[in-house]
Amino acid sequence: RPVRCRDPIGDVATIEYVLGDITEQEVDVIVNAANSSLLGGGGVDGAIHRKGGPEILAACRELRAGHYGGGLKTGQAVATTAGRLRARWVVHTVGPVWSATEDRSQLLTDCHRNALRVAAELQARTIAFPAISTGIYRWPVEDASRIARAAVQNAPVELVRFVLFDQRTYDAFARP
Ligand code: ADP
Repeated sequence: RPVRCRDPIGDVATIEYVLGDITEQEVDVIVNAANSSLLGGGGVDGAIHRKGGPEILAACRELRAGHYGGGLKTGQAVATTAGRLRARWVVHTVGPVWSATEDRSQLLTDCHRNALRVAAELQARTIAFPAISTGIYRWPVEDASRIARAAVQNAPVELVRFVLFDQRTYDAFARP
């Protein structure tokens, strides 16, 4: 049985930025900015469930019936099928809600790191992230982009693609 093995030394993930819709990405994993219920919401979450079809929600309900009875905690990540999407898996993670009084950046880092860890466990090679927490959770985009970009350094995959939905968010992420 052939064993594929990557040289762990000097093996750096490509990081790219695209303006677009994450539901259309042809990658192994797309990351969902979910909420802790795992049962759907607005923004990216709504789009993923709408385009991916009922199979994703069914898988989320199973998670809630099993190990994730209390929902998914902020910063954690868990995989499901990607249903009808072109990706193979959706990795759901819950971003922190922005706070002006409390520094929650470690939780935003955790989202990215845990999503990458789950992707690596699935032997995924390519992964797409949205701008987690910058929508309904109101995190300022410049700050979120700095945290997200730092969090995917040394990612255990070949390609990390940030998929940004509007020009302002794209500019924040893609700036040199
Ligand atoms: P959160 O609750 O973590 O803030 P949102 O889904 O509300 O998550 O927003 C996160 C980011 O994803 C925002 O920048 C939003 O504009 C963007 N977004 C919304 N829909 C899509 C989509 N289909 N593809 C990529 N990004 C999207």
